[in-house]
Amino acid sequence: MWVRKRIDISTNDLVRGLAGCIRPGGRGDVSLPELPNRFVACLSIRSGFDSLLSAVDWPHGSEVLMTAITIGDMPRIVEHHGFRAVPVDIAPQTLAPSVSGIESLITPRTRAIVVTHLAGGTIELGPIRRLCDDAGLMLIDDRAQAFVGTREMISSSRQADVSMWSFGPVKTATALGAGVISVRDESLRQRMRQRLTSTPIQSRFAYGRRITKYAAIGLLSQRTVSGAIAQAFRVTGRDHDQFVAEMARGFAGDGFFCRIRRQPSPPLIRMLRNRVGSYDGSSIEHRRNAGKLLIRELDGILPVLGDQMIDPTYWFFSVLAEQPEPLIRSLWRAGFDATNRSSLRRVGADDTNRSMVADLILKHMVMLPIGGGMPGEEIKRMASVIREAKPVSPGGI
Ligand SMILES: *Cc1c(COP(=O)(O)O)cnc(C)c1O
Repeated sequence: MWVRKRIDISTNDLVRGLAGCIRPGGRGDVSLPELPNRFVACLSIRSGFDSLLSAVDWPHGSEVLMTAITIGDMPRIVEHHGFRAVPVDIAPQTLAPSVSGIESLITPRTRAIVVTHLAGGTIELGPIRRLCDDAGLMLIDDRAQAFVGTREMISSSRQADVSMWSFGPVKTATALGAGVISVRDESLRQRMRQRLTSTPIQSRFAYGRRITKYAAIGLLSQRTVSGAIAQAFRVTGRDHDQFVAEMARGFAGDGFFCRIRRQPSPPLIRMLRNRVGSYDGSSIEHRRNAGKLLIRELDGILPVLGDQMIDPTYWFFSVLAEQPEPLIRSLWRAGFDATNRSSLRRVGADDTNRSMVADLILKHMVMLPIGGGMPGEEIKRMASVIREAKPVSPGGI
């Protein structure tokens, strides 16, 4: 079975990381000497975003506009601070909010907009930046899925007021945790750092356990092993998809805010600096090429999410189908781990009055495996399985 997400880390890094958990030394320190001092290291983006929102001085009930699709924890953090998360709809081709869409949602209570670069592509920020300047909004840039290298980190962090990159377990160049956040305003950054450094430090033991857990998951997602697991689930009538989703969840269980309010341990910081500093772009290069090949092979049979973004690197690759289920079943039978389950949610989904393109995207998306060294031949075979399933494009998109 070709799996969707491989953990993007080498055995060497895992071994070094574990050794680092045993070795004493290193202090809890959230600075990153390799990067300009506006960059701060956190246990995760969610930890950094939470401390950012406790450092701002917005009144209760302030509104934060957000790209309508993101992981559920992001709007949850906004609401936890007494603010309202307001979804901004996006287009399937660019996954970007339109300037007029943003404008129509601005009220006297609006304080910020969080723009999420989904699927590892980039959104043109120029027009949104100008709008934020005119309306006095903070522009927060969620690049969790869009790390491509430190040079790009430095250049793109000049555009937004706050930019965030994740090195969590399923992200590119993972450190099995950690987020990096750049905050341009110095006094806001100082307040945020104060909050971060007053939280407890993650223990070396906790990080070591994490490395061990993901080393095991890495083994399970080897192609032959994962095929056997999927087979076993099928025989027992259970669903391997749910199992995989549960394994990949970062801060599962109760006490969410307690868990994210921690500083990274010294071995995690070492791992982060090492991963960020030495990333050679190879995993991205492979995805970029695989994505291009797959688009060519699909030949327009179904719309591909984000295919008009700037430099799509396909952190996830997704097509839209009127009926995802039968297509997913055909792909499973042929050994491709497709799914329409993910940790992505529609911001403000309880607010059922508004129907959004974002809802249609989530309803019809079928994520396809393309990474993990999948050869061109297999990409072509997957495309032919899709063609043979004769899927129909969803209406209304
Ligand atoms: C992964 C992700 C996050 C959270 O990153 P963590 O470092 O795990 O907290 C936030 N936003 C998006 C869009 C993500 O994909």
